[in-house]
Amino acid sequence: MKILVINCGSSSLKYQLIDMENEKVLGKGLVERIAIEGSKLTQTAEGKETFVLEAEMPTHTEAIKFVFDALTDKEHGVVESLDEISGIGHRVVHGGDKLAEPVIVTPEVKDIILQFAEFAPLHNPANLMGIEACEENAPGKPNVAVFDTAFHQTMPDYVYMYPIPYEYYKKYHIRKYGFHGTSHKYISYQLAEVLGKDREEVNAVSLHLGNGSSLCAIKDGICYDTSMGLTPLEGLSMGTRSGNIDPSVVTYLMEKENLTPAQMSDILNKKSGVLGVSGLSSDFRDLEEAANTENERAELALDMFVLRVKRFLGGFMAELGKCDAIVMTGGIGENGITMRKAVLENMEHLGITLDEQRNDVRGKVQEISGEDSKVKVFVIPTNEELMIARDTLSLIQ
Ligand code: AMP
Repeated sequence: MKILVINCGSSSLKYQLIDMENEKVLGKGLVERIAIEGSKLTQTAEGKETFVLEAEMPTHTEAIKFVFDALTDKEHGVVESLDEISGIGHRVVHGGDKLAEPVIVTPEVKDIILQFAEFAPLHNPANLMGIEACEENAPGKPNVAVFDTAFHQTMPDYVYMYPIPYEYYKKYHIRKYGFHGTSHKYISYQLAEVLGKDREEVNAVSLHLGNGSSLCAIKDGICYDTSMGLTPLEGLSMGTRSGNIDPSVVTYLMEKENLTPAQMSDILNKKSGVLGVSGLSSDFRDLEEAANTENERAELALDMFVLRVKRFLGGFMAELGKCDAIVMTGGIGENGITMRKAVLENMEHLGITLDEQRNDVRGKVQEISGEDSKVKVFVIPTNEELMIARDTLSLIQ
């Protein structure tokens, strides 16, 4: 069976067609500048030349039509017809507390995606546009929604509640939901395999460190706690997001600078994090390069990031009681040799040591902890698309 995975943003869309017999990617692509002048589709497939198509794509419906055409193209395509595709899996960011598992899309599911759009305004409406564009272009083909929040639905109430008046939880569903769930779930499966254990025996902390970053405390194979919250703004400092700060900073700044909620949200989501502190870049490679030439604010931004990762890692290990492993994933976790070292340094008292030679690795599964490390540390590349494809397959079967 072949499964198409779609990750749809407001003006771009990524896709992968996966053969589930061997979990191999048959073809993948990116559509950029949807509904903007200069729309472009780029598709790559093993053994084929990169296919680039520039055409007008005023809505997601046209964009998806071009994706289907590219996948079935006589010269550049990877399947003969759409009939070969058994189902389509969609990444959806926020499923709130209504959807704890991947689901086949129905009108009720679409209503829930819309209901929680207010907590993920950049993502949920775009995710829904992708689903509806597939429904229009391939009527009758099953669409499955896989939620970033789903894996975290096992958190106990005392973990997901915020200490604010209870009525706001009842009235507005304000609570911690968590994100990157598909990645953390994939890591829980991969880690079980690496450790040679059943998934129910996995007690670990998963660190997804990238442009957006979050940690997940995995207890007996399921999520116990995670660093992101109602929205993906909570937790670590990130590329452009502040993560945790004293809430009074928000009210103080709004008063002093006469800011609307939308302006304040823009500052916290797009102008903060390592970009805001360094004034230079949200990209960790740029910051490492600048820090090497003694750019003080780049150094400060990185030091602040590392401190926060340590703070959550230590906190989650304390929460878990028993922690067999730590996993590093995401762009920084998989490739950031210097950042991994900085995070894991001076943690011997928590039973963690790093083997610098083993740590000299990028983008592949490898243990990086020292022989004497009580807690094993692994680099495991994440694969959200494959997780979505597996979830889609198991539902449509
Ligand atoms: P992601 O959002 O998971 O794609 O991760 C993007 C982040 O990973 C960016 O900040 C990159 O700078 C960082 N990254 C990617 N490759 C490296 C590398 N070789 N060393 C350090 N950071 C990296």
